[in-house]
Amino acid sequence: ARMMCETYALESAVYLTTGLIDAGVPDYSLESAICKVYGSETIWMVVNETLQIAAGIGYMAEYPYERMLRDARINLIFEGTNEILRAFISLAGLQSPGKQLTEVARAMREPIKGFGVLSDFAIQRARARFGRERFERVHPVLHADAVVIEEGAMALARESERVLRKHGKEIAEKQFVQARIAEVAMDLYALTAVVARTSQLIEQRGEEGARREIDLCHGFRVIAERRLRERLEKMEREEDELLKEVAQNTYSDGGYRFDVTS
Ligand SMILES: Cc1cc2nc3c(=O)[nH]c(=O)nc-3n(C[C@H](O)[C@H](O)[C@H](O)COP(=O)(O)OP(=O)(O)OC[C@H]3O[C@@H](n4cnc5c(N)ncnc54)[C@H](O)[C@@H]3O)c2cc1C
Repeated sequence: ARMMCETYALESAVYLTTGLIDAGVPDYSLESAICKVYGSETIWMVVNETLQIAAGIGYMAEYPYERMLRDARINLIFEGTNEILRAFISLAGLQSPGKQLTEVARAMREPIKGFGVLSDFAIQRARARFGRERFERVHPVLHADAVVIEEGAMALARESERVLRKHGKEIAEKQFVQARIAEVAMDLYALTAVVARTSQLIEQRGEEGARREIDLCHGFRVIAERRLRERLEKMEREEDELLKEVAQNTYSDGGYRFDVTS
């Protein structure tokens, strides 16, 4: 069920984005980055689950699953690694609230160290898209799904402003927070696409005719809502500093130093 719901959401996000491009929207860099990250992670999850279902034979080269898994893996790396694209999505989205805070605005105009192939592609071109979405044409049967988007978008705007005020230009170095902001933005974008698509289908075919898609829409909302809550309720966590320390110590040690035989 999760494979189906997330695939429906991914397809909806890609259709929404290509629709924006066809409609002549001049800058779709943020939406494209969301599709790339969400798309590559969805295919990885789906193929991994598929191999798990096939189990023993899934691992054997005689069957197609292990090849599918190997092929799916590169998507998390090329066309901009997903870590870099998360930073891009987050910092691009933070630009708009950041503009009200001059110090941050200045920092946002500077290329972020580590953006590599993306630096030309430009943070300064990206638009802020995090704001309250209005859903005037949402079918009543999808009301609960639309509420999750509205509340999530408002919470994201609130949290974005809070972290900008707290960290100023240092936000460029706060990668745990950046990742959570990007993940919230991705789920909100995908859910928006799902609700828009499903509403349109209900209009065309009626509620019974679109029953399967309505189920996928509700199913994705349940999955996305859980992730949104988890990230929005605790955008910054004490364990972030702890994990940074563990990582720094491991780097200084040159690897894992706690083998029982050593
Ligand atoms: C088969 C293949 C084809 C490719 N084709 C193209 C192409 O046609 N055009 C093109 O422009 N590029 C292409 N690339 C490059 C690709 O898009 C990535 O940009 C590149 O692989 C990343 O560099 P790297 O592999 O040296 O990893 P590194 O930059 O060394 O990164 C190592 C790891 O650290 C993470 N990381 C690095 N910096 C940060 C940071 N600041 N914050 C958090 N995490 C970070 C990365 O996400 C990655 O997981 C291709 C790569 C491959 C493997």
